[in-house]
Amino acid sequence: MPKKCSDYIQDLNDYLDGEISPELCEEIDKHVGECKNCRLMVDSMKMTVKLCREGKSEELPVQLQDKLTSLLKKRWDEKFKSSQK
Ligand SMILES: [Zn+2]
Repeated sequence: MPKKCSDYIQDLNDYLDGEISPELCEEIDKHVGECKNCRLMVDSMKMTVKLCREGKSEELPVQLQDKLTSLLKKRWDEKFKSSQK
């Protein structure tokens, strides 16, 4: 059974941190390359991490990431719901 976008969300943080297996990394790379929603998600998260690392903040804005994740989750839910009609 193929993974859904929402199945990747949990892995994206680890993916950006480089804390996942090469196999999973490759799988996510492939999916992100094909999926606009996930690409946007990864870009947004990368931007957040980048800004944070370049900035003065010493820790990752976890709350911001959570917000972003739940926002995109909601968007995906709406998208999938509407496509089922
Ligand atoms: Zn996706």
